[in-house]
Amino acid sequence: MTAGELAGRHALVTGGGRGIGAAIARELARLGASLTLVGRAVPPLEACAAWLRKEHGTPAFVHPCDVSDEAEVRRAFAAAREAQGPIGVLVNNAGQAEGAPFAETSLELWDRMLAVNLTGTFLCAREALPDMLRAEEGRIVNIASTTALKAYRGVAAYTAAKHGVLGLTRALALETARSGVTVNAVCPGYTDTDMAQRAVDEVMAATGKSPEEARRAIERTNPLGRLIRPEEVAASVSWLCSPEAAAVTGQAVVVAGGEVM
Ligand code: NDP
Repeated sequence: MTAGELAGRHALVTGGGRGIGAAIARELARLGASLTLVGRAVPPLEACAAWLRKEHGTPAFVHPCDVSDEAEVRRAFAAAREAQGPIGVLVNNAGQAEGAPFAETSLELWDRMLAVNLTGTFLCAREALPDMLRAEEGRIVNIASTTALKAYRGVAAYTAAKHGVLGLTRALALETARSGVTVNAVCPGYTDTDMAQRAVDEVMAATGKSPEEARRAIERTNPLGRLIRPEEVAASVSWLCSPEAAAVTGQAVVVAGGEVM
């Protein structure tokens, strides 16, 4: 997509301060959208917003928000609307990945994985949708995971939550199909962010491998032989936000280097 194609759109990215969310914010800003970034920690959001203003002259608004908290989501979306107008693009990117063998999965871990990954996606979509229905135009992109399509050992709660994100994507896409709003999921494989670094740390702890060996072990799970880059995920998100993708809804776009689902 070329610079300026999303001019006049207000895009809200959850977890937009770092990792995949920050890459998506940078790409949407390059395309001319104004940005709202939400997350729990404000300093990374402010740092990303400052970069967007400096590099692209983007109007960038920041608001603290735990996406699993209904009242905080309501407040953040109201403030975003007040600051920059109706929301035209929502990227549900905020997420956490923590695992444990199934028998050791506590109810606290289960609830937390579902709350941030699945309920957060539901709450944010519910807040943004009325703006989009009024405008008869909108894009919701949910950052799921390859875990939305297949299972991995030791992450049952995360897997269930991300399968849920894809189910929610498909259900909402069906309801909104004739409204000008599309709803899709992007499913990355291991992507080079803090989250993947935590997976490397876990391999080191479990196997005694060195940092380099542990990273290689993670990289080898991908047919490409490397981690996915956050910018590669962001490129799929921006395409789904383009006018050309108006007929693509309810889909899972896999960005995983050939990993077979
Ligand atoms: P990071 O851990 O680097 O970033 C996660 C982001 O989510 C942070 O900005 C964090 O901000 C935010 N976040 C976490 N919990 C909450 C919460 N309760 N409310 C609001 N924001 C929250 O992860 P990635 O960038 O790697 O991951 C982004 C998305 O991509 C996630 O949904 C993840 O599941 C998915 N994904 C990642 C893969 C990977 O290998 N990296 C692979 C497949 C999918 P803060 O902590 O300040 O709230």
